[in-house]
Amino acid sequence: MRIPPGVNEADYSAALGEFARIVGSDWVLTSDEDMATYKDTYSPWKGEEKELVASAAIAPDNADDVQEVMKVAHRYGIPIYPVSTGKNLGYGGAAPVYSGSVVLDLKRMNRILGFDETAGTVLVEPGVSYFDLFQYIQERNLPFWVDTPDPGWGSLIGNALDGGMGGTYGMLRHHYESHCGMEVVLADGEVLRTGMGAMPAAKTWQQFRWGYGPYLDGLFKQSNFGVVTKMGFWLGPKPEAFRRGTVFVPRFADLETLVDIKNYLEDTMATNGMPEIGSPLLGGGDLSDPTSAAMYIRTDANIAEMEAQAAKKGGFWSCRFAYYGNAAVIKAQWEHTKALFTDRIPGVTFQDDEVYDLPATPEQMAKFRTHPTILGIPNLLAFQIGGRSAFYPNPTSGHMWFSPVIPRTGAAIIEANRVLVDAAKEYNVPLLWFSPPVSIWPRGQMLVIGVPIREDPQENEQMRNAFRHLIATAAEHGWGEYRTPPIYQDFVQSTYSFNDHIQRRVSEVLKDALDPKGILSAGRYGIWPRHLRKEA
Ligand SMILES: Cc1cc2nc3c(=O)[nH]c(=O)nc-3n(C[C@H](O)[C@H](O)[C@H](O)COP(=O)(O)OP(=O)(O)OC[C@H]3O[C@@H](n4cnc5c(N)ncnc54)[C@H](O)[C@@H]3O)c2cc1C
Repeated sequence: MRIPPGVNEADYSAALGEFARIVGSDWVLTSDEDMATYKDTYSPWKGEEKELVASAAIAPDNADDVQEVMKVAHRYGIPIYPVSTGKNLGYGGAAPVYSGSVVLDLKRMNRILGFDETAGTVLVEPGVSYFDLFQYIQERNLPFWVDTPDPGWGSLIGNALDGGMGGTYGMLRHHYESHCGMEVVLADGEVLRTGMGAMPAAKTWQQFRWGYGPYLDGLFKQSNFGVVTKMGFWLGPKPEAFRRGTVFVPRFADLETLVDIKNYLEDTMATNGMPEIGSPLLGGGDLSDPTSAAMYIRTDANIAEMEAQAAKKGGFWSCRFAYYGNAAVIKAQWEHTKALFTDRIPGVTFQDDEVYDLPATPEQMAKFRTHPTILGIPNLLAFQIGGRSAFYPNPTSGHMWFSPVIPRTGAAIIEANRVLVDAAKEYNVPLLWFSPPVSIWPRGQMLVIGVPIREDPQENEQMRNAFRHLIATAAEHGWGEYRTPPIYQDFVQSTYSFNDHIQRRVSEVLKDALDPKGILSAGRYGIWPRHLRKEA
């Protein structure tokens, strides 16, 4: 049996006994076989000594159990790492950041506790997945819409707490921004309700997120200050219709104006779906295709030559807009979009894409086979990424997401791609040639790039070094990571260094106050308890 670091055997046995009394002995897991499920399948240290592992896992049934478990863990000083559905692949999976911690696996707590059909809000436990919520709505034929991340098996709570996002409309895409109110068990077993939940008789816990006094919810995003046992979310009304339209612009330099107009349309809410910037020159992403190879934006790139190729392909840049809502309104919004581009970019062309009355028919849905997320349908198709294909004969075993936030301009897209492509080349990373930005967040633009993980430790070491180099290079240019796998959480936190790392120092003050024994998710997002701080 593995014993968590810093815990003596007698205390650990006593704690395990108490955990079994609380949750039932079937739900205290300690075998090697069980612990294999709490490894990160996409671990960059796969099979190596440094691979993050759990000592045990406990799966409580309800919030009272969580409270009791935390009291015991607090008493014995057992390091605990809560996960909701534990599917955080690409960012660490279910493995604890502090190796040897006991995973508090909340996936049995999978109840939808409240569904307010008037307000369009839901209150869920941590084990509720996007599949569960979607099924609940479908079975009751409720007029609501689920914004889902690409993998539908993840949880609303885990995804939101880690800063995750979906792909449909408005603020619903940013899952933390669409939450309203939470219940948190603190490290010593105290229970906190945030927002209006602080008033026992409040009728608006899932409606008015600001509550009274300081807004405490922010403390629980990308941190380690509590175990979230309930969380409210706002749902979107099911839109009447959905349409897309694509804009093509002819010249390399048009990217600047294209991004300006896109930003304006988003900021005035004239488009509410997620705009997707791309380029016909990327082809299908096939690197052997000379036109997509041309998208490798070298400093010496022959722009005139690329523009000539672009003319044959229909445009240099494209932006696909998406609109959800009343059919007449979204038609007017697309016409408005086209008018703005026609006024400002000579030679612009348009493609009127699909218009769907929702819910979509099976035939229409079939057209979204590769990305049903856009229609609010949870699925697992994104796991095809890295799979074997004609131009990718050496499939990956997983990936780590590299995702720097860049300024919201066309110039920044070009600069970031040039700089990061060159940085990746130094480490012979085969994947980058041009990455279109994503604009999931209001006013945010970032690149999201998967760095592959394989079975070979040497290749993985090379990718680990490359990833670190990419983070450092991006930080030198002022492009910060928004979320990162555990292996880099310290390093990324160190790049947020304004005023002698005051951000981290304040988090540590909070950590010491809320979790003085430092037992909860030690090291998560670079926040370490006092006894494990390296420089302390
Ligand atoms: C191919 C692919 C595509 C992906 N696409 C997307 C995407 O579109 N959008 C996106 O956001 N992500 C995406 N991801 C990343 C990831 O898989 C998802 O974010 C997934 O939803 C996270 O898993 P989860 O919800 O089970 O979180 P969990 O693993 O349960 O939680 C994540 C972390 O949050 C903390 N945590 C969780 N629950 C609690 C709690 N109750 N209390 C305190 N702390 C807690 C823990 O530290 C945990 O490790 C993708 C990954 C892959 C491999």
